[in-house]
Amino acid sequence: MKHFLPIFFLLSIALYANGTEDLYTYGRTKADRLYQLKTREKYVVITIDDGPSIHTGDILSVLKKNRVKANFFLVGSEIESYPHMVKRIADGGHEIGNHSYTHGTFKDMTLEDIYNDEILAFNDLLKKNGGIPTSLVRPPYGYATPKQVEFLRERGYHIINWSLDTFDWRDPWEDSLKRVQRYHQKGGILLLHSNKKSVYLLPEIIRDLSERGYTFVTLGQFLRDKGHPPQAPAREASSLWERRREFLKGSIKKEEL
Ligand SMILES: [Zn+2]
Repeated sequence: MKHFLPIFFLLSIALYANGTEDLYTYGRTKADRLYQLKTREKYVVITIDDGPSIHTGDILSVLKKNRVKANFFLVGSEIESYPHMVKRIADGGHEIGNHSYTHGTFKDMTLEDIYNDEILAFNDLLKKNGGIPTSLVRPPYGYATPKQVEFLRERGYHIINWSLDTFDWRDPWEDSLKRVQRYHQKGGILLLHSNKKSVYLLPEIIRDLSERGYTFVTLGQFLRDKGHPPQAPAREASSLWERRREFLKGSIKKEEL
């Protein structure tokens, strides 16, 4: 019996040293990506996908009025349409996450395509428009294979899904609110979108959850407190990626790859 204690002690160290593993475990369930914050506190994270859009300004006003900070998972091609919104979101004290460059599903993409054309290209565009490259990645539609997730995690990215889809893009906002009232749990990550319905839904969610004693936190804030800064890792200095980039831009021919 006396051997059990040291073994348990060593196991604890191993788990601790394993870094993010602990963040992604809920009870006995292990996951390779983040669905919910592991916490006993009454925390809630608001995530707003697919912007910037024509509605992002109104969403920012709602958040400011209610003194709530959120995570905006932006899309590169949408930043191209509303480049000035990057700074407006950041200046509001919100966090920007990487929701890919094209919003194409990762389903048929190679690891190389995802890393170079979606993740790094997004962060480059973010930086160009005054944002800080981020390690927070939400694959389009929440879809990524375990291999794709592993590849990105090995390079220092956090893969963020959600615990509760409000279905704001499909349902009347009243139904989305009911869903939050019924199913939200401690540490839940709510999924909303940069659409008109969110402008009505957000104040109601904030009012309801505040009344029930919830605190609004951001992913970066939570991860930083756990010792995992949300800044993007240093880029891999691989000439292969760089040459492929040149090829995609049309500066070099396929034979030169
Ligand atoms: Zn999306």
